[in-house]
Amino acid sequence: MSPHAAPLRGSLPPEGADPAWGGPAPDRVSADRPKDFEGFEGSYLGNREVLRPGSRLECKICWWVYDPALGDPQWQIAPGTPFADLPAHWRCPNCDCDAEQFLMLE
Ligand SMILES: [Zn+2]
Repeated sequence: MSPHAAPLRGSLPPEGADPAWGGPAPDRVSADRPKDFEGFEGSYLGNREVLRPGSRLECKICWWVYDPALGDPQWQIAPGTPFADLPAHWRCPNCDCDAEQFLMLE
């Protein structure tokens, strides 16, 4: 009844197995997702160079659309302001998500 009995190799753990006995390693949860997990086709991902002055963008969280022709009264963005010219701290006025979450329409 030694508490330090060597585990039997190649066999199932004994009844009331020592919690230190690791048992089979659980399937590794893919901790590192592929880099392309973030964003997808249509997401501009903060690359404002791909935006055109007239580009409308849609929030992928709440589907709110930024239309440059309308601007954004909530952020006091004047009509005619391209998405690329929005202030860096601008966020979706509807759900407060990051501007990088917006997707180009059209
Ligand atoms: Zn939103």
